[in-house]
Amino acid sequence: MFYIVPTPIWNLEDMSFRAVRILKEVDYIACEDTRTSWVLLKHYEIDTPTLSYHSHSGISKVEKIIDMLQNEKNVALISDAGTPGISDPGYALVQAVLEKWIEITALPGPSAVITALSASWMSSHHFLYLWFLPVKKWRQTLLKRISENKTETIVIYESVHRLQKTLKDISTYFGPEHHIVVGRELTKKFEDYQRGSVEEVQKYFLENSWKIKGEFVILI
Ligand code: SAM
Repeated sequence: MFYIVPTPIWNLEDMSFRAVRILKEVDYIACEDTRTSWVLLKHYEIDTPTLSYHSHSGISKVEKIIDMLQNEKNVALISDAGTPGISDPGYALVQAVLEKWIEITALPGPSAVITALSASWMSSHHFLYLWFLPVKKWRQTLLKRISENKTETIVIYESVHRLQKTLKDISTYFGPEHHIVVGRELTKKFEDYQRGSVEEVQKYFLENSWKIKGEFVILI
């Protein structure tokens, strides 16, 4: 059996009982970064052998994991934080596992996109998750397209380096009065949501520039 196991996006208490049990029971845990996952595994006294599986893992690593699964071993996939496959390595491995008709189980659990959406006050009946906006090529084209045909809540991930540029671009394409939410450092000690017009949120981060750090989810 191949398990997809979400892990906390920061707060170690967000681990589910089932996730801990599965990680203790499987034969191997494929980690995005074994050093990062060590903190979590140690906290929950999980001493299952680990192996690395990250975005640069080649076909040989995929084949190695498939081989384990075909030899009756149980393998769980975890990423550095949140749900594997959601803007994290996993897609190619999941595809390869399914191609071999190996049984797969995905556990529900933490993900920044769903966490931010649930606290945003924006409609979650229909939402469009766009990962990170492209940095150069397609950025303006994409912003133009989504601003012209906006029918759902748009969710993007953003890094500290591009927050202000992205807010500026949102203002350009959606207008300074457009209502947005910026979720920062979710589940962490200084978790923070800024809700308001793009102009108000830009002003807030200009006046509180020390808050431009950490991890961000933007809802448009
Ligand atoms: N797999 C993760 C998930 O399920 O949410 C996403 C990993 S993606 C590589 C990392 C990005 O997710 C960050 O740059 C940030 O935009 C967002 N993110 C992750 N953890 C977050 C947190 N605690 N608060 C705000 N955003 C977060």
